[in-house]
Amino acid sequence: DGEQTPGVVFSDEEKLQIARLLDEIGVQQIEAGTPSMSPAEAKAVKGIGKDGLKGSIMGWSRAVKGDVDAVLSTECDAIAISIATSDIHLQYKLKMSREEVLEKAVSMVEYAKDHGLYISLNSEDATRTDYVFLREFASKGKEAGADRLRVCDTLGVLIPASSGYLIKKILQDVGIPVEIHTHNDYGLAVANALAAFEAGAEWASTTVNGLGERAGNSSLEGLVMSLTKLYNLSLPFNISKIYEISRYVEKTSGIPVPLNRSIVGQHMFTHESGIHVDGVLKYPHTYESFMPDEIGASRHIVIGKHSGKHAVWDKLKKMGIEAGKAELLRIVEEVKARSEQRKSAINNKELKAIAERVIKE
Ligand code: MN
Repeated sequence: DGEQTPGVVFSDEEKLQIARLLDEIGVQQIEAGTPSMSPAEAKAVKGIGKDGLKGSIMGWSRAVKGDVDAVLSTECDAIAISIATSDIHLQYKLKMSREEVLEKAVSMVEYAKDHGLYISLNSEDATRTDYVFLREFASKGKEAGADRLRVCDTLGVLIPASSGYLIKKILQDVGIPVEIHTHNDYGLAVANALAAFEAGAEWASTTVNGLGERAGNSSLEGLVMSLTKLYNLSLPFNISKIYEISRYVEKTSGIPVPLNRSIVGQHMFTHESGIHVDGVLKYPHTYESFMPDEIGASRHIVIGKHSGKHAVWDKLKKMGIEAGKAELLRIVEEVKARSEQRKSAINNKELKAIAERVIKE
């Protein structure tokens, strides 16, 4: 889904590097691409499959024989077979009946199974699908040999309560392992995936930086860090690579990570306000729920309008400048005035110049 972000194209080398980083982080299965899309895409997926990564490599396909064959031509050990199940998609997009959808899904699952692939059967727009039909789709898929059902919240319309409710019901009624696939249209993608896990889902689709169509998907970093820090679970993930993969994907996708993005945004570890900087300098956990170096990032103290004397003193000390009590107060005053007048922060060079002038005076 990451590369489905409008305008994003990764080169073969970039795809491979992203796959390697995901593997180092400990992602259990990498959906490497859609081999039927183009010969170049098939080559890239094949390259990832042959790279000797620890995780499983999955290829994406529609419930169409040509797509499944394209996945079979790569070195993937797993396949995502996708077809929409909601009436709105059947009527306006696929122009197929429910029976036809079932027939296609079952025959392609059987075909892929005959060729030894691990199968995630995808119900596209599952969360707007009539439940009775979704249940039938899941149980026919299971009988045909699907290893799990991917419940796609294609439009991002779940709330945590409905996510948990739906997953619990599918598990009770059908008993097929569930993967939750959430989109972030209402900013709930990670919350909905967590609710699905609580209800018994075993897998979740994620993308780095939450890339994907429209508002994107559940993010790898959001989900992994929530499970690790908020649920306090010991998971086999190497979180120290999270910042690196985020920056690599930012650079290669050309989609900037917003400063205030959760987990990986630059402002997660940047402090300016006097009260916060004072706290963080005394004990970082006062204003950081995890340390930047845990994910491979670093902390920044910004000097500006909201700075207090602790921040300025600390910054000056790091530059080897010792200021007396009265001098420090004058420096802070000047920093605030300059920052307010210019509506921006003060850089190290400017701070140094202000401090040296005040001390000299
Ligand atoms: Mn999707």
